[in-house]
Amino acid sequence: MEEANAIVDLQTALPNDWIPYIPNFKVLKIGQIFGIDTEYSIETLKEAIEATYRDVELERIYRKEKDELLATSTIKLYFKLTTLPERIKLFGVATKVYPYVFNVLQCKKCYRYGHAAVNCG
Ligand SMILES: [Zn+2]
Repeated sequence: MEEANAIVDLQTALPNDWIPYIPNFKVLKIGQIFGIDTEYSIETLKEAIEATYRDVELERIYRKEKDELLATSTIKLYFKLTTLPERIKLFGVATKVYPYVFNVLQCKKCYRYGHAAVNCG
């Protein structure tokens, strides 16, 4: 495993179109891209990204408004890489990848983390 990681770390020295691949990888980096039209399906976006990055998993972020789940223009990306790519090519356009920051649940009653107010106490 260490050897495989060393190869991935060398990726900057490799041609741009050469993507190192670790079989049975144990590494995952999570990023997000913004401003992606909700009309694009995950399948379409996955195909567009896989032209440059293999084995990427995508997830659209939804937000809750009243009791409805609404699609946002943010896409979460799971890369099977040791470092998050700075950019991906999406439909031929370089798109900046931002590190994904986990939403931490905060209680609105006691302001502690890790539970919701309904479960407080
Ligand atoms: Zn609480």
